[in-house]
Amino acid sequence: MNNKLVINFKITNWCDLHCAHCCERSHKHNKPNFMSLEKLDKYVSESITMDIRPDQLLTIGGGEALAPYMLNNPTYIPNVLNTVYSAGYIPTLKTNGTWGNNNTLRKIILSDIAKKAYQYDKLVTLDISVDEFHNNQTGVIKIINDIVRNPGLSFAIRFCLVGFNTTASKAALNDLQQQLQNTGLSIEQTFAGDWIIEIPNSGDGLYVYNDYGAPIYNLGRAKQTKTFTSTKNPNGNDGYNCLQIDNQDCAILNYTYREPIKNRPLNLVLQSLMTHTTNQR
Ligand code: SF4
Repeated sequence: MNNKLVINFKITNWCDLHCAHCCERSHKHNKPNFMSLEKLDKYVSESITMDIRPDQLLTIGGGEALAPYMLNNPTYIPNVLNTVYSAGYIPTLKTNGTWGNNNTLRKIILSDIAKKAYQYDKLVTLDISVDEFHNNQTGVIKIINDIVRNPGLSFAIRFCLVGFNTTASKAALNDLQQQLQNTGLSIEQTFAGDWIIEIPNSGDGLYVYNDYGAPIYNLGRAKQTKTFTSTKNPNGNDGYNCLQIDNQDCAILNYTYREPIKNRPLNLVLQSLMTHTTNQR
């Protein structure tokens, strides 16, 4: 196998939003069906013998990765972080950021994830969607302000803003930048298009990655014939193979090939999935 692996755990298909392009068909009327912590633990343990990307990043997504907080299950994410950190990984939580509008929830979530980052002495990253489909800017502005203005959070939490390679996504990002500046934050744009947000009264800055390279591969819900996603990329993304483990015990390679895990070790499931890509080359 040539490509190293990116692993993503889809812990739920519940989401408080209902975006038209959603590849996962997530919705707040879906049953939450969180991946059990035992299953997550088993899969994470098995994955550490696999050929993971060198920076050891592992993503937790959905649906909305922080949904457990909205559904009265506040211990779920801290337990997920215990599992991921204990295995030596650095977690990224994929979110739409709407919880930023709820002052109580925002405080709890940011404090919980920062505490885990300190406990394991490794960063935690929030991947926040900012694009033409998510009407979430007020929540995102509150999250970013809390992180940047609180040293306890800014030492522990990184964030990455994620959108599509479209004019509308870039306009949403520019609009967010303007609105953040209106809250008094100073933002410098790097040559690569990322941001450095000045941390007030510290002389320091917080680096924010802006990931706007992906095309919109399909129309999500609008495309009735799709089964789970229609991305055709047998070589993986950015030189990595992406293995998603979902909350229905299925493994999905590069958003294209899907197999039930059926109690097999993950490396055997991956080997089986990889035969599809080998056959295509
Ligand atoms: S926020 Fe993300 S998971 Fe939720 S509906 Fe939109 S695209 Fe899907």
